[in-house]
Amino acid sequence: MSDQVIRTTCSYCSVGCNLDITIKADGTRSLKPTKEYPVNEGFCCPKGFHLLTPFLSEDRGVTPLLKNEQGVQEAVSWDKANEEFVLRFKKIIADHGPESVAFLSTGQIPFEEMALLGSVTKFGMGWVHGDGNTRQCMATAAVAYKQAFGFDAPPFTYQDFEESDLMVFVGSNPVINHPIMWNRVKKNSRNPLIVVVDPRSTETAKQAGAHFGIEPKTDIPFFYALARILIENDWIDHQFIADHTDGFEGFVDKVGQRSIADAAALCGIEEDRIYELARQIHEQRGRVSFWWTMGVNQSHQATRTAQALINLALITGNIGKPGTGANSITGQANAMGSRLFSNTTNLLGGHDFLNADHRKRVADRLGIPVEVIPTKNSMPYNQILEAARDGRIKGLWFIATNPGHSWINKTEFFDALKALDFLVVQDLYPTTETAVHADLFLPAAGSGEKSGTFINSERRLGVVQKVMDPPGLAKSDYDIFLGLANAWGCGDLFANWQNPEAAFRVLQRVAVGQPCDISGIEGYSMLLENNGVQWPYPQGNDEDIHSAHRRLFADGKFFTPSGRAQILFDDYVSPTEVPDEQYPTVLLTGRGTMMQFHTQTRTNKVPFIRSKTRFEGYVELHSKDAEILGVKTDDKVKVTSRRASVTVSAVVSDGVKPGQVFMPMHYQETNWLTYTAFDTYSFEPSYKYAAVKVEKA
Ligand code: SF4
Repeated sequence: MSDQVIRTTCSYCSVGCNLDITIKADGTRSLKPTKEYPVNEGFCCPKGFHLLTPFLSEDRGVTPLLKNEQGVQEAVSWDKANEEFVLRFKKIIADHGPESVAFLSTGQIPFEEMALLGSVTKFGMGWVHGDGNTRQCMATAAVAYKQAFGFDAPPFTYQDFEESDLMVFVGSNPVINHPIMWNRVKKNSRNPLIVVVDPRSTETAKQAGAHFGIEPKTDIPFFYALARILIENDWIDHQFIADHTDGFEGFVDKVGQRSIADAAALCGIEEDRIYELARQIHEQRGRVSFWWTMGVNQSHQATRTAQALINLALITGNIGKPGTGANSITGQANAMGSRLFSNTTNLLGGHDFLNADHRKRVADRLGIPVEVIPTKNSMPYNQILEAARDGRIKGLWFIATNPGHSWINKTEFFDALKALDFLVVQDLYPTTETAVHADLFLPAAGSGEKSGTFINSERRLGVVQKVMDPPGLAKSDYDIFLGLANAWGCGDLFANWQNPEAAFRVLQRVAVGQPCDISGIEGYSMLLENNGVQWPYPQGNDEDIHSAHRRLFADGKFFTPSGRAQILFDDYVSPTEVPDEQYPTVLLTGRGTMMQFHTQTRTNKVPFIRSKTRFEGYVELHSKDAEILGVKTDDKVKVTSRRASVTVSAVVSDGVKPGQVFMPMHYQETNWLTYTAFDTYSFEPSYKYAAVKVEKA
């Protein structure tokens, strides 16, 4: 037998790199990044290089586990697991109603699986509540775009990194978090000015032409001051504003309410530097792009901060053209798929649960009775957990996510778990901080063990292909959902969903006429042959997809009812928890290294990555603060917030300012300290700001 090469899409981050996996005649496998794929052009980061290693880990779940009367998880068959799932959830619903159960899913599985989960639960089992862990990272971008553009539509293509003259990165550290995107920035031959706005001197800030180390969570006064200078100097695009936007006059009033001097003082930045940045935006007005990530999304005023960047792009006419845009870089591999097709916050395909026409359209296209579609929205993630804590939600099902590590203020999270009658966790590993508490554990296949489709940050659909079998009795999330549907008695509704590619066809029909119409894609083979396809790609699309790096809004037409973009803004409010005498230090959080991903569920199983990263939690602090405390790197320190106390290693760093410390999200200690605050519109947690005190341990 000759070697076989199978192409797949990396299942870590939203860049969406493709990887060629060679299966040799002797069964061994090797991996290299795909040269001709336009996303990564022959490169990938260490996580991608070691994509398959975590699937071979000895602590994989190989059989369903059910807690016995002594509270010990013991192995059971799939028949027994399915039976228990159905029995327990049906009893809860019979006793307490359909709103007493919920699922919390992920941005890590293919969107066919997400859609099946959302459809089986909401159309088949009669559930109302289900959300995903995209609430923890991308909900803000989704809401900001939806309100401003009329649809959750990131406008850019990665080619814009190479075609921009001025790139402003806000709360974004692509050098370590999206390294393949940073390669594209480095390929830009236009000698671009790179500006970073971030309280920390990050790896990206160190490589930028200008770094604005603003005080944490003062983004809104900073960007409103920038807008005021642009407006007062007439450095704006009047024609674009008049032809394509609503709300400009109100925005002029709003940004005029705070002087530049006041804003500069609040942000801790010299006034002159804000003027200088405005002047540079004006001088490069044709090709200015704004890029944001979690520093914006995970804030108490996140949606309006994202819209402050959208407003800057709109009033300067920097949208719909090469090298422009207000561009949200997503986090997880399939965050974009989750946002459009998970049937959680939106009805399938970016439709609206509250819209009767949408419900009818989706029901007709799926061939299901319209009555089975919920007529109300799910509670968002934080409210589902709150309902679990106070007893309104009694049964909860987690899929491919580990909030026992990652949820904000974990004391409240574990209080919610304790109050449940029935907890199901579906994952690769029964060892995660969440899965160890499960009444029922369902063992799932990893991305290398199944097939489906991811949608990356630039709206490109890429195929995931199976290169190995899952261990033991583990099976794909897709097959788990179908098995549960049959056990529940609603399998008939999903007769057309026999496998992931069949589901892809179903979802193509559902999304016809939507901004994310993908009806012109001729199945997985077309995605593979054409190196992925960006949405929209409706039937009859005559664009040359080989050369297409397609951005949105070139015609200035947005998806709002008026066709005009909305300029949206609010008063600035400071965080509700600020440093005081008892907790005098600001805790910032974020990703730590290029090697680690989120809760390290997979990356800490890769020996190479473990050899290059710290095994235990740490806190970065400035040398002046270290001197006052009398600590040096590797000494133990105690970090205390109003919620908890943790002991971690000190790392003395010039990346943070005096009075601020930084803890990476990858270590379980971090979210014992964070506090529960959420953006008003997106309900995304404000992970990146809390008051703490640091002491020598
Ligand atoms: Fe590419 Fe992201 Fe995977 Fe790294 S983790 S290989 S950047 S998709």
